[in-house]
Amino acid sequence: MDLDRIEIEIECPRCSFFAKILYRDARLRDVIICRGCKGNIQLDDHMNACRKAKRQVAAAFQELEDAFAKLNKAITLRF
Ligand SMILES: [Zn+2]
Repeated sequence: MDLDRIEIEIECPRCSFFAKILYRDARLRDVIICRGCKGNIQLDDHMNACRKAKRQVAAAFQELEDAFAKLNKAITLRF
């Protein structure tokens, strides 16, 4: 799964216009232009929230995989 293409909704700190950014933009701390006030929004990830989110998503997928593996073992075909 490509987390970089996940959309995140943010609010412009100046005009409160909602903008959609990609996880990738946030991860790279990109500057986006607000469609409301045309101002620059510097994406800040000083808490490394992106990396934390990525770890959490990876853990959730692992859990899902484990659950399916268990299910596969539970369902056996008998003749
Ligand atoms: Zn704005």
